[in-house]
Amino acid sequence: MWQVIGQDKAVEFLRCSLDAGRLAHGYLFSGPRHVGKMTLAQNLAQALNCQEEDRPCGSCRSCHTIACQNHPDVQVIGRGNEGSAETPKKEIGIDQMRQLQHAASLKPYEGSYRVFIIDGAEHLSEEGANSLLKTLEEPAPNVILILLTTDYGLLLPTIVSHCQRIELFPVPSPITEQELIQHWGAAAEKAEVLARLCHGGIGWAISALNDDRLLQERGQKLERLISLHDASIEQRFAYAAQLATQFAKNRDSVREELELWRGWCRDLLMIRAGCANLVANIDKEALLHRQARRYSLTQIKGFIKAIGAALQQLEQNANPRLVLEVLMLDMATERKAGYA
Ligand SMILES: [Zn+2]
Repeated sequence: MWQVIGQDKAVEFLRCSLDAGRLAHGYLFSGPRHVGKMTLAQNLAQALNCQEEDRPCGSCRSCHTIACQNHPDVQVIGRGNEGSAETPKKEIGIDQMRQLQHAASLKPYEGSYRVFIIDGAEHLSEEGANSLLKTLEEPAPNVILILLTTDYGLLLPTIVSHCQRIELFPVPSPITEQELIQHWGAAAEKAEVLARLCHGGIGWAISALNDDRLLQERGQKLERLISLHDASIEQRFAYAAQLATQFAKNRDSVREELELWRGWCRDLLMIRAGCANLVANIDKEALLHRQARRYSLTQIKGFIKAIGAALQQLEQNANPRLVLEVLMLDMATERKAGYA
């Protein structure tokens, strides 16, 4: 069975394509982090190589080894292991794409299809992307490439046009909540908190349920960010410098921090707009209400926009220190006006 949760439209499309034998050589799964892109890719790889009639069965040898990432014909290529302590590489390089090109020219070893899953395709180097394009332009039979990305706009348009694009969406909280209770044994209260906090990224909610450190880390980061609202401009600039240094080593961790901040501000906005029932950070509701009183709707909206702009500029390789310092200044304006 397809294990991905809350992506019925995507599953239905792939199921129909498989049944009709109308498969693309390249697929592009785009959607926010943790919504199930990798699970869907693995399910598709299973369906392509499953030994049973009702594919993917999830239990035959082929399905099992693919789920364990141990199938000789299914390969995941990325910048490093997500969730591991190892810092991911900056790019998916040309060497990795050359290896892919070579492996794609070989016949499947034991399955029906060779499947290559490129995780974080937006991180392909320019040379890597051009090499991948060649593989996509001259597809070998029985080879399927599945590209995963949070933003397909960052990919070469020619790569996008050679793939069947399938969009995945944030999973609604009630679905996540139900899944956490029914299949992961979560207590109702914890399931509700995690389902709201994950902003539709069900994968994060499942990880956080099994690893308390994720929630603790989130709490520490939030406290640090919230304390900035009362910090001097020197302290904020010092923090911008610290984040810029961190960005050079691990871009994702800085992006996550800014996303966390944006989520917090979105909650402030919900409270100011009279929709307190929609806040995501429900474990910190009292603090949210106290902070929301200090800012007007316009100020909060302005700051959310500023965080969005900063994220975009970082994606476009602008100078990180400059981008983050400007963000700190945007926040200063907000606070000053908020106290007036
Ligand atoms: Zn199977």
